[in-house]
Amino acid sequence: MARRKKIYEGKAKILYEGPEPGTIVQYFKDDATAFNAQKKDVIEGKGVLNNRLSEFFMTGLANIGVPTHFIRRLNMREQLVRSCEIIPLEIIVRNTAAGSMSKRLGIEEGTQLPRPIVEYCLKNDELGDPLVSEEHIAAFGWASQQDMDDIVHLALRVNDFLSGVMLAVGIKLVDFKIEVGRVYEGDFQRLIVADEISPDSCRLWDIETGKHLDKDVFRRDLGSLTDAYTEVAQRLGVMPRSNGATKPTLIN
Ligand code: UDP
Repeated sequence: MARRKKIYEGKAKILYEGPEPGTIVQYFKDDATAFNAQKKDVIEGKGVLNNRLSEFFMTGLANIGVPTHFIRRLNMREQLVRSCEIIPLEIIVRNTAAGSMSKRLGIEEGTQLPRPIVEYCLKNDELGDPLVSEEHIAAFGWASQQDMDDIVHLALRVNDFLSGVMLAVGIKLVDFKIEVGRVYEGDFQRLIVADEISPDSCRLWDIETGKHLDKDVFRRDLGSLTDAYTEVAQRLGVMPRSNGATKPTLIN
């Protein structure tokens, strides 16, 4: 069998050419990075959990009519996705102040925001993904006005969906990041949710205790990241609950 072609290797995933034109295989690594890759580690099982969780969220979104790149999960660490042109923006939606917004604006972490706030960062590691405004996006042509309308619409639908799914299992969705891609269908083009949705790209707090169940566990050295992600997966019914005897198998 011919060795498949690697298209791109990022911090947490590798993309390979897919089996059919217009498809890509997305491989989830165990690597964790934070602070623009200044902090790095390998967290055994993280890739397996994120592959499963991203499948769960993307499938749920498709079920309510939000288009995504997800086609199907292939195995423990890989999923088949639709190839698309990634818009060079990280789209962040916030329900509660935390992280960089709290630092930037001096708003205490945990403060409920009056409404969901959508922010954009330019995808550029060398510049540390700087925050940009719609003015910058329009002036530099990173996305059109129509794209921006579609992006806000998609982002808020994802927010409503994820907030509800999380609330049902006792988790508060504080904020999250998505990426959006463009696909062409005949004479038309449309935007779809791409990349991944996982605890790597969301802030998730236990409603009762405020316990962090997301990548802040790694960023802030709060304990085991695998345990936190496993807890999210188990609450959502994505991973079987162990009865204490054995942990779910996360390595392959
Ligand atoms: N986020 C992400 N990738 C990034 C930057 C942020 O997935 O490159 C997510 C992050 O996990 C959080 C949300 O976007 O859920 C908002 O992040 P923030 O701007 O507060 O940045 P941070 O404090 O993580 O540097």
